[in-house]
Amino acid sequence: MQTTIKNNSKSNTEHSHSALIALFALVGMGITAAMGTVSLFSDNVILSSMLFISSVVYFVGYYTYKKYDNIKLCSIIIIYSLYTLMFYLVFTGGVENTGPLWVFIVAPVSVFIHGLKRGLFDIALFLCITSIIMFVPFDSVYQASYTTEFKLRLIYSFLTVTFLSALYEYSREQSYNHTLELSKKYQQLANVDPLTQLSNRRDALEILKHEQNRLTRNCESLSVMVCDVDHFKKVNDQFGHNAGDAVLIELSNIFSEVIRHQDKVARWGGEEFLFILPQTSVNNAAVIAEKIRSIVEQHTFSFEEQKIQVTVSIGIDQFRESQNIDEVISSADQHLYHAKNAGRNQVSPKVQIDRSIGEINRDRASS
Ligand code: GH3
Ligand code: MG
Ligand code: MG
Repeated sequence: MQTTIKNNSKSNTEHSHSALIALFALVGMGITAAMGTVSLFSDNVILSSMLFISSVVYFVGYYTYKKYDNIKLCSIIIIYSLYTLMFYLVFTGGVENTGPLWVFIVAPVSVFIHGLKRGLFDIALFLCITSIIMFVPFDSVYQASYTTEFKLRLIYSFLTVTFLSALYEYSREQSYNHTLELSKKYQQLANVDPLTQLSNRRDALEILKHEQNRLTRNCESLSVMVCDVDHFKKVNDQFGHNAGDAVLIELSNIFSEVIRHQDKVARWGGEEFLFILPQTSVNNAAVIAEKIRSIVEQHTFSFEEQKIQVTVSIGIDQFRESQNIDEVISSADQHLYHAKNAGRNQVSPKVQIDRSIGEINRDRASS
């Protein structure tokens, strides 16, 4: 659950990046359509056709993203159709040799769409092909002729714009990563109990909601256990608050080791823990609860040479149809109350011994 929440900030940023790329496709479509119309009025049919074709290709890129959510393909369509149009403009000179002026948009667009590394690689490739087009004389009437000074200045200024775009993209990526780190850190702080490093109450409730939804969909069983340390006030009084803290940390480690990977244990309150056990009936949960109770009873906690013994009481309940989270937890709380009243250091309800342990283990292993 924490991972899901952590990933949210990343996917939000990726989503807005994709939306910007799609917007760029629309802008490209509009500009090339407008320039195509202008060229048509100037009787430059070939240039106008090229621009209209580009406009259609940009629309295809946009559609690919909107319809199929394929931003990779959309990016490839945008970048390489832009490059093709630029090669054409450099080769023919566009309108009165002004075509090469457009090449400057290549650098910022490439690094924005493909990121720093791939963007720079694409730009290097673009520059190589553009230089070949400008410097190698082709046997064609359409090839524009530029002065050597113009060609060199074009390459120098293109390299300058590339450098600035790369610098900008580098600092953008750095601050993006920094923001992602901060966001992960705050999500962690919001969901993890600082003392025990277990999920806190807020995260436990999120997990419960998630598990409850799954339960409704898959008709599986789901149990919860509320576990409370017995007479914990006495531990604090006798050994000190720091010793109490150390016991809570050691208990958390024991709990985390005992449960299966799909189970979850959270710090529910002061010396109270909540176990969430998916695909587990109340009977099976009682087996686990009994195991936990017995391990804690036999464990000797230590803090600064002091040996401390504690016990726990555990109340269990299983989700039933139409029960909400509050009802199940308060029912488990009721059972905990019974366990306390019955003398503590026990589980309520108790394991029904008519089910063999082997059967229970088989149930859990198959789930
Ligand atoms: P019971 O068997 O009825 O649960 O008795 P108890 O003493 O455990 O329960 P009570 O509610 O009277 O006291 C809970 C104690 O837990 C009091 C509180 O100071 C202590 N406690 C709660 N959170 C922490 C914590 O983070 N660290 C330490 N050291 N003690 C804590
Ligand atoms: Mg207690
Ligand atoms: Mg308590």
